[in-house]
Amino acid sequence: MMNRKVHLCLAAALLTLCAVPVQAALRVVACEPEWGALAQELGGSLVDVSVATTALQDPHQIQARPGLIARMRNADLVVCTGAELEAGWLPILLQQSGNRRIQPGQPGNFAAADFVNKLDVPVNVDRSQGDVHAAGNPHIQLDARNIAKVGAALTARLQQVDQSQASVYAQRGADFARRWEEALRGWTAQAAPLKGVAVASQHNGFVYLYHWLGLKEVAVLEPKPGVEPTVSHLQTVLTTLKATPAVMVLYGAYQDSRPSEWLSRNAALPMVKMPFTVGGSEAAADLFGLFDDTIARLLAAATKR
Ligand SMILES: [Zn+2]
Repeated sequence: MMNRKVHLCLAAALLTLCAVPVQAALRVVACEPEWGALAQELGGSLVDVSVATTALQDPHQIQARPGLIARMRNADLVVCTGAELEAGWLPILLQQSGNRRIQPGQPGNFAAADFVNKLDVPVNVDRSQGDVHAAGNPHIQLDARNIAKVGAALTARLQQVDQSQASVYAQRGADFARRWEEALRGWTAQAAPLKGVAVASQHNGFVYLYHWLGLKEVAVLEPKPGVEPTVSHLQTVLTTLKATPAVMVLYGAYQDSRPSEWLSRNAALPMVKMPFTVGGSEAAADLFGLFDDTIARLLAAATKR
């Protein structure tokens, strides 16, 4: 009796499965955590997101591990920053994946930086000036307005590569845009006291944040982008700061903090460890937390004066 009931249940369950085709989730590989988080916000259960780097890794320099190549091989959509941020590792991954759908120019290849205005675009590209990005500064994620722009573009791309779910993406995209707009108003209001505050940065990774909130960068610790500062270079920065003082020095969670520590000690400035992306601090658990925490840390340092 018991057995028959179980069999009937199984038969019913199988029928249900057969009647409704199982929709496989869209496989998304994000290069950096912020884009993985955005794809998750926009795709919900329709997407299966994996992220190539963590917040504690330098996104300029990643090893093309076999596991990453395998994920690229099976990906339906690759979501990266672009603007040459991943120039040292992504082309190799794409090539080795053998996956035609995610090659540059294909709908399965999405570069976030294509959808925002770039800052620091050089007039002349001179590679002797270090790791200069001809496409402009690639660290676009810390201007919260850029997240909204990329979110709209990514929604359209998800609709294009997963057409049967286009209406769900439209609805999720609109919902995200509404929640983001509201959060953005809050952040802009909270950050008002940061306007005009002079700061030093270890790497030129925060220009979009400064542009958005009106902070003033008076010094960068790296002599050239991506080049670790020597003590003699730090001495020069210290001299510069005597003429144009900074209120704090910022570095990213993925960076070696020693140059910032040196400056903090010698110029008597608070140093601020920035989450930089989702997962860069405990509070930066998602995109909303990333901006809550970023602004809270800057305000705390600014009021230490
Ligand atoms: Zn950089």
